[in-house]
Amino acid sequence: MQSIFAHHARLPQGWVIDLRLTVADGRIVTLEPGAFAQPQDHCVMALVPALANLHSHSFQRAMAGMTETRVSGKESFWSWRKLMYQFVDHLTPEHYEAIAGLVFMEMLEAGYASVGEFHYVHHQPGGRPYAALGELSNRVFAAADLTGIGLTHLPVLYSYGGAGQVPLSGGQQRFGNDVARYADLLSDCRSMVTKSLPSDARVGIAPHSLRATAPQDLKEVLSLRSGAPVHIHIAEQPQEVTDISTWLGARPVEWLLENCGVGADWCLIHATHMTAQETRDLAQSGAVAGLCPITEGNLGDGPFNGAAFLSHGGHFGVGSDSNVRISLSEELRMLEYSQRLRDLARNVMVPQEGSVGTTLYLGAAEGGAQALGREAGRLEVGALADLMAFDTTHVSLCALRPDQFLDGLCFASDDSVVSDVWSAGRHVVSGGRHAKRDQIIAAYASAVAALLDAL
Ligand code: ZN
Repeated sequence: MQSIFAHHARLPQGWVIDLRLTVADGRIVTLEPGAFAQPQDHCVMALVPALANLHSHSFQRAMAGMTETRVSGKESFWSWRKLMYQFVDHLTPEHYEAIAGLVFMEMLEAGYASVGEFHYVHHQPGGRPYAALGELSNRVFAAADLTGIGLTHLPVLYSYGGAGQVPLSGGQQRFGNDVARYADLLSDCRSMVTKSLPSDARVGIAPHSLRATAPQDLKEVLSLRSGAPVHIHIAEQPQEVTDISTWLGARPVEWLLENCGVGADWCLIHATHMTAQETRDLAQSGAVAGLCPITEGNLGDGPFNGAAFLSHGGHFGVGSDSNVRISLSEELRMLEYSQRLRDLARNVMVPQEGSVGTTLYLGAAEGGAQALGREAGRLEVGALADLMAFDTTHVSLCALRPDQFLDGLCFASDDSVVSDVWSAGRHVVSGGRHAKRDQIIAAYASAVAALLDAL
């Protein structure tokens, strides 16, 4: 049994003072506001539910900063993707594990308790499977185990190089599976996760995108889900919308909602390019819109239809996607600022009235947990103890009332205010640092040096 004492805590009904919280078997057992601290308690300033980072491609972290030079003409998403494929050609399983370890540690230190790893590099360069089909998934599991992050692993079905069943080519060969081999991979992942990770870990399914699958394949792969969350990239780029419309006769979000029974266990990543009708229909489906504002800004994708989506009661969460920058506070800030810049307005991401930071933070906590299939996102008895504590005496927060803390976190502060993180009760960050920080950074540095030599 662990016990935590928080001077301030955000329960579903609002902020309370002097909360004592106990945890057993990874879950919150008791919540007692107005309590006295006990000698064995771990004391923190402010306690909130920790966010799930709902979309990550860990290996891309090692490319951060390598694609920010303009070479000729207009740099685009597609030229970024070209470099990503070159990079993929040289990644070994050892690199993969070391990079994922760093990424998961950085996420935990930023205040996230869990991650949805959208995992699409499966095979050797050239496309031959490893002796163990799930070799690279296993590396992700090892990194999750080392860092203690709550993992929802999302092995990706990636069968085609573009809309209309274009064959895979070049760097894409490492991603490729047909549905039959994908089913084997999925079943390997499920048994490895059960064997090697704590019971809060999950395996979902992830058809990469409409452009990398085909309608019949999608139907078959959805039959393998047995209640698992489903994630898909949906409408990141205008070109993708045009290609899918030409091929399938409907825009990507429109087609998916009409044909795939999308509901609360779905997460649509980059629901960026939607009509007003698609925005409303997606909100009403109960699915989570998986938003990655830093990456979407970095890749020039465009802003999300935030105000309209919230006005229809839509659920959302955030992910660090390309991991060019891992920062929880910046991710939420970028989400709001992208709306303000487009709409020439302030305080957009709140349905009617109230604190934007609170709406962003608590909305992303609930939506992220929903997307990852975690019983978390709220401080309540029975929920997983995915907890984040922050320092309200920090200069960026010390002038604020409790009901302004989350505005301060989102707009005035950075992740250095994060003091502690628990993932399903695992106390992985204390004093702002991950317990295995030095070891993880050393492993990452040597992996990146080896990778750069090979490039
Ligand atoms: Zn992605």
